[in-house]
Amino acid sequence: MKTPLIPLFIFLVLLMVQCQPKEKFSPLSVDQLASAYESSKEGAVAERRFKYSDVIALVKGRNKGVFEVEAIGKSVEGRDIYQMTWGNGPTKVMLWSQMHGNESTATMALFDLFNFIEGSNDGYDELREFLKNELTIRFIPMLNPDGMNRWIRRNALDIDLNRDALRLASPEAVILKNARDSFSPEFGFNLHDQSTFYTVGDTEKPATISVLAPAYNYETEVNEVRQRAMQVIVGMNEMLQQVKPGHVGKYDDAFEPRAFGDNIQKWGTSTILIESGGYPNDPEKQEIRKLNFMAMLHSFQLIANGSYTKYKLEDYYGIPDNSFKLMDVIIRNLNLTKGVYQYRADIGIRKKETDLAGDYFATGSIDDMGDLSIFHGYQEIDAFEMEIVQGEIYDQEFDSTEDLDQEEAFELLRNGYLAIKVKEGKALHRLPLLVLKNQNRIPNMVSVGNVPNFFLAKNGNLKYALVNGYLIDLDKPEKVAFKQRLM
Ligand SMILES: [Zn+2]
Repeated sequence: MKTPLIPLFIFLVLLMVQCQPKEKFSPLSVDQLASAYESSKEGAVAERRFKYSDVIALVKGRNKGVFEVEAIGKSVEGRDIYQMTWGNGPTKVMLWSQMHGNESTATMALFDLFNFIEGSNDGYDELREFLKNELTIRFIPMLNPDGMNRWIRRNALDIDLNRDALRLASPEAVILKNARDSFSPEFGFNLHDQSTFYTVGDTEKPATISVLAPAYNYETEVNEVRQRAMQVIVGMNEMLQQVKPGHVGKYDDAFEPRAFGDNIQKWGTSTILIESGGYPNDPEKQEIRKLNFMAMLHSFQLIANGSYTKYKLEDYYGIPDNSFKLMDVIIRNLNLTKGVYQYRADIGIRKKETDLAGDYFATGSIDDMGDLSIFHGYQEIDAFEMEIVQGEIYDQEFDSTEDLDQEEAFELLRNGYLAIKVKEGKALHRLPLLVLKNQNRIPNMVSVGNVPNFFLAKNGNLKYALVNGYLIDLDKPEKVAFKQRLM
């Protein structure tokens, strides 16, 4: 009598496995996520400083057969803020981007995600079908269109929306609060950009992505809501580590009673903060945009198939904290003279962007000097065997900046010229040297707060040029995107 029971048992086990729909889909591999990004990338946006009017069609003009698109209110200056909804599954997920106007990396990735969602016959139909049946996803891209157009953090009332979650003085804050309350999502993604000067713990690696399950009280306790956010983060981190090992940090988890992330967590939505930081040679954050896309799509899968529940909180706490230890350039052991004093100091340079003529320029000034051994640089050199050489102004005046290209400019640098003079010129240029029109001297103050411009020579040979915060290796100059102003 025992023998027929064994096949019956096997049959029952198989039936149980079959009946667990949440296990039926295994998440995409890292390569598949990356290739989904490549085929979905929104070509209309290639740089991070875009205006509302440049991109609003990417929201408003969405395929109505796929997304439900709805204007849910207006910014202070009357710009429409939209929400887009996709899917009809039982688990609700809400994502909002750019509540800080000058933090656009995740918005770019959302445009890519929208393309992905609208795609078909590309090998991802099964995934889309699965996500659509398990999740209802609501997107609110560009929550602060007025700040975005000015490329500032705050809105047109000069209020930081992320400190307005309780007082709700700004219409944009009211819109986000209402959207959360009416939809009551189980999961929320709060999408921001952070400073490019964060490292992952004490390592030299930039915190390219930082994550946080924001605290809902000063004691930073963990309830079920926050725990779920932490688990999704561990799953997201596991994937990101395969793409950019060591480049994920944890954002400061001090409770901020006025912030949206902290309150939305408190109101019962498991909230995941994603902060886009810096990555070497990625000034327009396109590499980071890709990581955002991959992280969001991966998280949707973990939430939809329930597999995030397997992750352990200790692995959340194991993600290293952000540390503010990066500079754009560090020149170590520079030989300096002040009066009778001869001394060695490291100098650390951080660049700052300034808006001009519908674009911007970057200026690097000395942020700190002395013993900078605890800091790291996106670019670093040891000047121990080098000496500072002052740059010259090229004696022949050019008509305009159009008269020479980057190659010719590098050649001038190799010959000791750090600046040229022009008769006419646009406010901005992309040459790797100083372009003077209104002034006759090269500013060079090696002191904190000032802009250093000089050469470094070894045994009499010029090795490096420091131009307005850009460090240029004269033996192998890189054609980076110089963004400078006419001086
Ligand atoms: Zn922000």
